[in-house]
Amino acid sequence: MRDSRVAIVTGAGRGIGAATARLLGNAGYAVCVNYRSDAASADKVVEELKGAGAKAIAVKADVSHEEDVVRMFEAVDRELGTPSALVNNAGILIQQMRVADMDAARINATLTTNVTGTLLCCREAVRRMSTQHGGPGGSIVNVSSVAARTGSPGEYVDYAASKGAVDTLTRGLAVEVAGEGIRVNGVRPGFIYTDMHASGGEPGRVDRLAASIPMKRGGTAEEIAQSIAWLLSDEASYVTGAFIDAAGGR
Ligand code: NAP
Repeated sequence: MRDSRVAIVTGAGRGIGAATARLLGNAGYAVCVNYRSDAASADKVVEELKGAGAKAIAVKADVSHEEDVVRMFEAVDRELGTPSALVNNAGILIQQMRVADMDAARINATLTTNVTGTLLCCREAVRRMSTQHGGPGGSIVNVSSVAARTGSPGEYVDYAASKGAVDTLTRGLAVEVAGEGIRVNGVRPGFIYTDMHASGGEPGRVDRLAASIPMKRGGTAEEIAQSIAWLLSDEASYVTGAFIDAAGGR
C-alpha cells in the first residue's frame, strides 16, 4: 500500500534538508531524500528513516538540470506515490567575495541551483498536486534566507539575490495556485550551524556572527526543520504566500 503523505526534500543528505527529512519521516511521511553528489550521506539518512519505520528512498538529481528533476519526480511517482509535500531546500553559496570580483560562471552556478532548481521542482510538483491537473492538492515550502533581506554585502550578494528571487517566486506561485489546493510558503533561516559556511570559505562563520544575533546564538538545522514541517502541515491550512523568519531576531 502507498503512503498517503509523500514528501520530496531536495538537498537532504545533510544540514537543514537532512533534519527536515528526519522530522517528516518521523511524522509519518514517505520521504524522497534528494542529493546531488554525496550518495553515502543520503543513504545514511534513508537508513535512519527506515530504521525508524518510515518509507524512504534516496534519489540523485541535480535540481539545476531539468532532466534530473523530471527523472526524480518520476521515481517518486513510481516508488512512493504522488507527492503531497515538496521542500525546496537544495541551495549553494560560493567563496565569499565582493561583486567587483565575481564572474558569470559563479553567478550562474548560484542562480541555476537556487532559482532555476526551485522553479523546476515547483513546476513538477504543481503538475501533480494541482486540482486543475486532477491532483489532490499539496504544500510546498521554499527555503530562502535572511540574506534575501540583508543582501550579504562583502560576502555573497549573488547568493542573497538568488534568495530574493526565491521569495518573489514563492509569493507569485502561492497566489497562482491558491485556488488549486496548493499552499506555497517560505522559511528564511538566519545563521545556522551546517557545513554550508565552509563552502563560503569560513567554516566558523556562525560563531563569528553569533554576538550580532539578537538571541546571541546561531540556530540548528532541527530548529529550521520545525518551521518547515509546520508550514507543510494541516495546522497551517490557511497559510499561503507567507514567510517564517527563523533567525533569532535578525
Ligand atoms: P548544506 O549543509 O551545504 O547542504 C546543502 C545540501 O544541498 C547538500 O545535501 C547538497 O547535496 C545539496 N545540493 C546542493 N546543490 C544541489 C543541487 N544542485 N541539486 C541537488 N542538491 C543539491 O546546506 P544547508 O546549510 O543545510 O542549507 C540548506 C538550505 O538552507 C539552502 O537553501 C541554504 O541556502 C539555506 N540557508 C542556510 C543557512 C545556513 O546558515 N546554513 C542560512 C540561510 C539559508 P550534496 O551534498 O550531495 O552535494
